[in-house]
Amino acid sequence: MKITIAGAGAMGMRFGLMLHRSGEEVTFIDGYKANVLALEEKGLQANYNGEEVIDQIKAYDMTAIPTDLTIDLLILFTKSTQLEDMLQAVSGNISKNTKLLCLLNGIGHEKVIEKYLSLEQVFIGTTMWTAGMEGPGRVKLFGKGSVHLGAVDKSQEAVGKEIAAVLTKAGLNAHYASHIKEMIYRKASLNGCMNSLCTILEANMAEVGACPSTENMIHSIVDEFLAVAAKEDVHLEKEEILANIHSCYDPQTNGKHYPSMYQDLIKNHRLTEIDYLNGAISEKGKAYGIPTPYCDLITNLIHAKEKLLEAK
Ligand code: NAD
Repeated sequence: MKITIAGAGAMGMRFGLMLHRSGEEVTFIDGYKANVLALEEKGLQANYNGEEVIDQIKAYDMTAIPTDLTIDLLILFTKSTQLEDMLQAVSGNISKNTKLLCLLNGIGHEKVIEKYLSLEQVFIGTTMWTAGMEGPGRVKLFGKGSVHLGAVDKSQEAVGKEIAAVLTKAGLNAHYASHIKEMIYRKASLNGCMNSLCTILEANMAEVGACPSTENMIHSIVDEFLAVAAKEDVHLEKEEILANIHSCYDPQTNGKHYPSMYQDLIKNHRLTEIDYLNGAISEKGKAYGIPTPYCDLITNLIHAKEKLLEAK
């Protein structure tokens, strides 16, 4: 299958490497020039479960995509803030036969995607795989994960299952999920608490959990996510979401981890995905007539912090 990975960062390189190794024809498109250059000149260098590997995988700068590049499956792995520019860049190579898989964290990417191709061609989901970019063309890949994906248009279930099979053949442990929106909201509500509070408080997850005053905030944020989800006929158990959040506090497991939003903004002064987490709940809340004061405030605080840190 001709697979193009749009966004060759940490996750793009993980999926690209694993799919390439299972015999798929993988191409990277990226907007980070030093990364494209390193991929071209040195190959994709990975510490892959402790082993040093180098794979040669074709990479193009998003401003120089060959017009004859055919894409059967387009896997998006930009950050949310880079999504629209990437779709614009690759739009000339999208045909009616192209399928698109979006595994970005957050809610509402379909609204951007549907400007570029029919939602019949679109599959969305979540992944529990992780990856860390160590520099241009270099990634650290450890541990295990999974992918859950679903068709935006339910009539496309069979195609979604074929895509899941291609990913599973590559070891990506993918499953077709008919209730994919539930999984997306479940993950987003966790991220909407831990990513944003760790970033605002400049703390790791164990430290956030150790502050008694964060518990009330977390209840209120989760209530807002669940109220908006319910308007879309997505019904989640608050206790289950809270249990997932509390399980992040254990310093023996994940507690000492600083979530990706913290690393993006505080460490690297990069723009965050807040508009697709708490910001998406604020926007949807306005449309549905649901007050979302906690998500509103959190979104504004993160945007203020982006401005103060001159994030790009
Ligand atoms: P990433 O930041 O590693 O890469 C995203 C894009 O940013 C790529 O195009 C990359 O080349 C570019 N980029 C990276 N560093 C840059 C720099 N210094 N200057 C300019 N451009 C740079 O993002 P990611 O971690 O791969 O995440 C992609 C999506 O997957 C996001 O929606 C994220 O929330 C989600 N996700 C990530 C993980 C993870 O463990 N990394 C896990 C699950 C979901």
